[in-house]
Amino acid sequence: MASTAIYPGSFDPLTNGHLSIINRGLVIFDRLVVAIANNPNKKPLFTVEERRGLIQGAVGPNPRVEIDSFDGLLVDYARKRGTHTILRGLRAVSDFEYEFQLANMNRHLLPDFETVFMMTGEDYFYISSNLVREVALFGGDVSGLVPANVYAEISRRFQRKQP
Ligand code: ADP
Repeated sequence: MASTAIYPGSFDPLTNGHLSIINRGLVIFDRLVVAIANNPNKKPLFTVEERRGLIQGAVGPNPRVEIDSFDGLLVDYARKRGTHTILRGLRAVSDFEYEFQLANMNRHLLPDFETVFMMTGEDYFYISSNLVREVALFGGDVSGLVPANVYAEISRRFQRKQP
């Protein structure tokens, strides 16, 4: 049976940390569904459609990667998709507490739900979308933290000259 995992997140925007998890996830799973969470409580920098375009641009054409979005509970989306395996990245101890709660809550809601964690690569542990957004908003240089197409879009939007 071909294995598929859902890699859910805000991806606002996609970072090199996310891309690394996607590439490493593809070593383990046959297919990945990168699922953009549409959470109206978070004020996003990029719309879901923009985020989808940025992920598509960074991943490139790959029949093993699907990019989708979902509203509401992840377990409901997983149930709808018939894929109960979730891929998440872990950066630091600070991620652990939240991810542990989330994984257990999701399994409470959907008993055969399974979360697979990948530790971040050492080059990526300090990269978060939050920090990228903050640095970008103040005109800082986020090259090296995000894929080239995301960098180009941030530079265009925040009027930063590319080197
Ligand atoms: P969320 O808002 O759901 O946490 P994010 O887009 O911030 O969404 O992150 C999606 C997933 O990617 C999470 O599992 C997060 O821990 C993981 N992730 C984010 N940045 C990195 C990174 N630099 N290295 C490894 N995993 C990461």
